[in-house]
Amino acid sequence: MTLDQFPQFRVADTTVEDGIVCYVGTFEPTPKVSESWMGYLFTKDRGLARGRFACRPNSTTIAFSPWDAAQMELRIGESYAYIEGYWGEKAALVLDHAHRWERKEFQPQDAFEPEWSGRNGPKIWGKAAEHVGEPGRIIPAAWDHAHCAICWAKIAQYEQPYGYRSSDDDTWVCERCYTQYVEPRSLAFIRLA
Ligand SMILES: [Zn+2]
Repeated sequence: MTLDQFPQFRVADTTVEDGIVCYVGTFEPTPKVSESWMGYLFTKDRGLARGRFACRPNSTTIAFSPWDAAQMELRIGESYAYIEGYWGEKAALVLDHAHRWERKEFQPQDAFEPEWSGRNGPKIWGKAAEHVGEPGRIIPAAWDHAHCAICWAKIAQYEQPYGYRSSDDDTWVCERCYTQYVEPRSLAFIRLA
C-alpha cells in the first residue's frame, strides 16, 4: 500500500467545540465507520498523527479532532490520507518523524510478579523497573523477549538477539522489518481486507 491508496479526508471547515480543535470534512471513498473512532491522518510535516473521528448528527460530514492539536494543523480545502487504528499504529512507526531507531542487542530484564498472582505457576506482570515498591516479587531476567511491533516476531537472546529499539519508548522492530519498511518508510506490510 502507498499513501495515495488510502481513503482521503478532505477538510471543509474548522471549528472549536468545547475548547477542542475540530476539523469537519468528508471521506473519499468512505471507510467503514462507526459513530466515533480512533484513526490516523498523514501530513507531510508531522507524519502520521492520531485523532478521534466522529459522525455528525444529521450531516454527511465527519469531525476529526487531533490527539495533539498543537502538533497538527490541517488546511481547509486539502485532503489527507487516512489509515484506520490497527494499521495506523504500525504505519506511524514507519512514518512518524518522532521515532529515533537504534540497533541494539536485546538484554533480559528483571520481571515482576504481583503478590496476588495465581497458583498455577509464576505470572509475570511486567518489568520490575516499572513496579518498584509494589507488593510482589522480582524474578531475575524473566522479561526475556520483545516482539517486533510490525510483524510480531520474537526478539530474544537465543532467537534473533538484535533489533531496532525506538529511543522514545520501549518499542522494538526486527531487523527484517527495519530494512524492508522502517528505513525506506514503506507501508508495503499493510494488507486491507
Ligand atoms: Zn518484524
